[in-house]
Amino acid sequence: KTFKELGLRDELVEACENLGWKTPSKIQAEVIPHALEGKDMIGLAQTGSGKTGAFALPILQALLEIAENQRTVPAFFACVLSPTRELAIQIAEQFEALGSGISLKCVVLVGGIDMMQQTLALAKRPHIVVATPGRLMDHLTNTKGFSLGTLRYLVLDEADRLLNEEFEKSLDEILNVIPQARKTYLFSATMTKKVRKLERACLKNPVKIEA
Ligand code: AMP
Repeated sequence: KTFKELGLRDELVEACENLGWKTPSKIQAEVIPHALEGKDMIGLAQTGSGKTGAFALPILQALLEIAENQRTVPAFFACVLSPTRELAIQIAEQFEALGSGISLKCVVLVGGIDMMQQTLALAKRPHIVVATPGRLMDHLTNTKGFSLGTLRYLVLDEADRLLNEEFEKSLDEILNVIPQARKTYLFSATMTKKVRKLERACLKNPVKIEA
């Protein structure tokens, strides 16, 4: 199948072509049609499978549709939680590349970088937040005027690695302050007991895909 046949809009099909993505990867081909129908998704997939595109493209399509109806693109529309700084940066780069035609704004909130610099980036009201749980919680607690009250999509990327001692508390707190009425995508390399528990706590009738 082609990206177009998966149900993606021309702007996004073109963005994939511009990145040199000729055909959807397996996980993309299986996830995108369900995600476009509004389902919560669980994807069992490794890095390198194209999983970032599998969750980014449906989110960007939803953003485009809302922008068209409301003539404005909503800020803080989606949040992706990642276990590492490097992965967060790569995810943001893919979002920016796929969203370059629609002037998408993305912010990366990770440790080891000045809070103030990130606070300035948040003040520009980006559409997408890619973050590690600890630093996101820091900003939710300490950055005036920043909340995720308008969030429509949550992505838990590499969920098995998010569920460690360092992040568990922040993750719990984040889940408590974001809207219940949202779509959730969970991606994990392995399905552990803890991942299953997280799935029950934050996804609604998810469709499960194995890459
Ligand atoms: P990911 O598994 O999301 O980290 O993606 C791994 C790499 O594959 C990234 O460099 C992507 O740009 C690339 N990629 C993702 N989807 C496709 C595709 N459909 N065709 C070719 N390359 C892709």
